[in-house]
Parts: sequence; structure tokens; C-alpha cells
Amino acid sequence: MTVRTIAVLGAGLMGRGIAYVSAAGGYETRLQDTSREALTKASTDFDATLEKGIATGKVAESDSASIRGHFHTCFEIEDAVRGADLVIEAVPEKIDVKVELFARLDQLAPKHAILASNTSSLSITEMAAATTRAPQVVGLHFFNPVPRMKLLEIVRALETSEATLATCEEVGARMGKECVTVRESPGFVTSRINAMIGNEAFFMLQEGVASARDIDKALKLGLNHPMGPFELVDLVGLDTRLSILRFLHRTLGEKFRPCPLMEQYVAAGRLGRKSGRGVYDYPND
Ligand code: NAD
Repeated sequence: MTVRTIAVLGAGLMGRGIAYVSAAGGYETRLQDTSREALTKASTDFDATLEKGIATGKVAESDSASIRGHFHTCFEIEDAVRGADLVIEAVPEKIDVKVELFARLDQLAPKHAILASNTSSLSITEMAAATTRAPQVVGLHFFNPVPRMKLLEIVRALETSEATLATCEEVGARMGKECVTVRESPGFVTSRINAMIGNEAFFMLQEGVASARDIDKALKLGLNHPMGPFELVDLVGLDTRLSILRFLHRTLGEKFRPCPLMEQYVAAGRLGRKSGRGVYDYPND
């Protein structure tokens, strides 16, 4: 199947980035959100990312008008999915919201369209079960910030077809991504390993093995991680990380039991950069 039109649902942090790489890849792109404010912010962000791309030489100035011309925002889901070949949802990480959305998409999207979720950990199979087209349902797990991060994790649910996977690899390549295909399992590859490292770092902090700064420094300089685990969790959000860990604990067992110190930080409202304080303080953010 040749994909020409992509609908991205949810214009938050991830949806905005996915819509940008989609338009830059030459796809007719429609970004939809139930919040008009999110759509306005998405348009401003799109222009800023495009300008930055031109300034850094990643985008040719001669391509900028066509990239901008490929990007549209919509408030109504019907307008976004009409004629779409691929729909990628990036709405909040709640299974009931996603399942309801997939059931609706099954009614609204063209019969041939692939329906994809950008979930970090939830079951694509469960979302597929809400549709009558399970072979066309797949996970497309992008990373934050989407325009900069190279990887696209393609998640094969129980009934995802080879044709769907092949189409998604082609789309990923045109969006400038390197793809890996993983069989559905909780947390896929990246979220599962990341959650494990982040949790272990918290246990070390709790035990007084080293300071947060020194644990971060050790992983950056000794293991070549681009960011320390605490810098990263402050960026992701401690509440988000905790909900992923709780899910992994429920599905994969004891080794993912969330560290009590992380639970305490979340209870104290220390959620990371977004709340001005996480493991570190961000007085000026
Ligand atoms: P976000 O909170 O920044 O954005 C979610 C957006 O969805 C909001 O703008 C909200 O108004 C909108 N929305 C809510 N319900 C909607 C609906 N029914 N229809 C259309 N829009 C709706 O969230 P995010 O960080 O962009 O995460 C979105 C998804 O991407 C989640 O599944 C998350 O797990 C996944 N993800 C996040 C990251 C990350 O680093 N934040 C990385 C990979 C994957």
C-alpha cells in the first residue's frame, strides 16, 4: 500500500513531533486535537522546528514551503481521518481512552487505513481487539524529541500483518528513522530497559551508594549514556515513569517493583522539570 495521507491524533509533545517528521517526509499531514489551544501551540511549534531545521542546514530552504504546505490542523476527528492511509494516535497513555479511540477510528477511517498507536508500553493487541481490522493495527513508538531521535520501534501485535509492517518500515524510512521491529510485550525493548535502569538508579540513591549527581556522572562518563538516569527521569516526568513501572511490575513481575523513594518523590509533587522540582531543582523552568 502506498501511504500519501497521515492523520496524527493528539497534538501534545509527541503528536507535534510526529506531524513534523510526517510533513517533512512529504506526507499530507493532518494533526488533530480536542483542545484548540494545543493545535495553536502545535502550529507555532511546527514553524519554529522548521526554521531551526533551515538554520542548522537539515532542511533546504527551497523545501520549506512544501513542508509547511503539507501540514494542517483539525479540531474534528472526522476531518483528520477522511481519506487517510495511516492514522497515528498520540493521545494520553490511558488504555480506556485508546481502546475507545480505536473503536471510533474503525468506524471513521477508510477501510484500507492502517491504525497505529504511539503508546510507550500499553497493549496494541487490546487496541486492535476494539476494531474489525486487527491485521492493520500496529505500534509506532517514536521518541522524544521526535525530529531529533533516530529510532522508530515498530510493534507487532498478535495479528499485525506482514504487509502492515512493510508499509510502516517504508513510512519510517521516509520520516528519516531507523526502524526495529519488536513483538508486543510490556514496555517493548526501550521502555522496559529504560525503566529498569531508572528504577535501579533510585534504589542506589535510596541506599546512599552515591549522590544523584555522581550516579548520573558515572553513567554518562563510564557507560557513555548521553544523559544520566536522573536527568532523564526529570525530563520524562517521575509520575510517567512510575506509571510505566507499575504496569511492568503488574505484567512482568517483582523485578520491576517501583523504588519506594520514587513513589515518595511523586507523592511530594516532585515530578521533574514540569513541576520545577524532581530529583534536581529547576527554579527557572
Ligand atoms: P501529551 O499529554 O503531551 O499530549 C496528549 C494530547 O492529546 C493533548 O494535547 C490532549 O489535548 C490530546 N488529547 C486527549 N484526548 C484526546 C482525544 N480523544 N483525541 C485527540 N486528542 C486528545 O502526551 P505525550 O507526551 O505527547 O504522549 C502521547 C502518547 O505518546 C502517550 O501514549 C505516551 O505514552 C506516548 N509517548 C510519550 C513519550 C514522551 O516522552 N512523552 C515518548 C514516547 C511515547
